[in-house]
Amino acid sequence: MGLHNAMETIVLEIYEEFEKQYKLACVCNQCKEDIWALVLNRIPPRYASTQKGELFVKGLYLNQQLRSDVMRELMRASLIVEHNQHH
Ligand SMILES: [Zn+2]
Repeated sequence: MGLHNAMETIVLEIYEEFEKQYKLACVCNQCKEDIWALVLNRIPPRYASTQKGELFVKGLYLNQQLRSDVMRELMRASLIVEHNQHH
């Protein structure tokens, strides 16, 4: 039991699609985590208890508005990370 930010799961799932569609400068773990952190800092968290988590996440994942918000933030974050690579 515990609280989980469902947005973490959503952002990671949508990132997978994003990575296939766009040519990213670097897809190492450091850059990926930088992108995820930037996105998660700008998208309000959606907390669920782990018990209810799965259905909650599915509902969010089907929300078109949310998906396009996450996609837009991923694009923005990937540009920032590309220009500020930590390596
Ligand atoms: Zn990298």
